[in-house]
Amino acid sequence: MTTLSPAVEDYLKAIYEIQSEGDQDRVSTSALADCLGVARASVTGMLKKLNAMDPKLVNYIRYRGVQLTPAGEKIALEVLRHHRLIELYLSEALGYSWDEVHQEADNLEHVISEDLEDRIATLLGHPQVDPHGAPIPDRDGNISRREEVQLTQLGIHQPAHISRVSDHDPAMLRYLQELGLTLNAQIEVTEKAPFSGPLHIRLIGTEIVHALGRQVADYIFVTLGSTGRKKS
Ligand SMILES: [Zn+2]
Repeated sequence: MTTLSPAVEDYLKAIYEIQSEGDQDRVSTSALADCLGVARASVTGMLKKLNAMDPKLVNYIRYRGVQLTPAGEKIALEVLRHHRLIELYLSEALGYSWDEVHQEADNLEHVISEDLEDRIATLLGHPQVDPHGAPIPDRDGNISRREEVQLTQLGIHQPAHISRVSDHDPAMLRYLQELGLTLNAQIEVTEKAPFSGPLHIRLIGTEIVHALGRQVADYIFVTLGSTGRKKS
C-alpha cells in the first residue's frame, strides 16, 4: 500500500462504509462530516485534495457528493481488512470485548505491516467476519456480501438471526450485550409500535421480549432464518 496519511485512509474508509451501507452511488459531504465528526468545510477541503491526487482516489463534484475511484476503493478495502482483522485478533487472542475493539483498531489499522496482517490472518484461520459480523475483505480486496436487512425492515414473526451490528458506539454495544442481542442471537419481531415507536424483539426459544428504540434497531442487521450455529 502506498503511504497515505491516516486522515486520508479514514476518509476513504468512511466513504466506502457509507456507500455500502446506504446502497448509494454518491456520498454527500454532510453524511461524511457526520460520520467523521468534522466540519463540512474541512470535508470539502479534503475531498478537493483527494480529487486532485495522482492516482485519483475519489470523484468529487461540488453539491453532488463523492464517489471512490477503483484506486480509492482498493485502499479503503485494505484499511478495512486491517481494521477488522485487528478487531478479531484483539477479541479472540487478547480477550477484548466487542465494545472495546473498535477504538484500538481505528488507531492500529494505519500502522500494521502487510506481514503482520498476514500473520494475524493465518493465526485466526483466514476468518470471514469481524466481532461485529462485518465481512473481512480478502488480500485481493474481495468482500463477501450477504442477504441482510435492517432489523427495522424485518416482518412480524419472521425468524432471523443477528448477523451484523454497527461497531461505532461502545455504549450501544454494551447495552445490546446486556440484553442478549449479540451476534447470531435468534430473534423475531413480535410488535412494531406506530409512529417510529419501539420494536418488540423476542429471543427465540425464550419468553424474553425487549422493547428496542428505533435508534438502536437501525444499527442492527439480520439475516432470515437460523444460523445453524449455536450462539456463543
Ligand atoms: Zn470497528
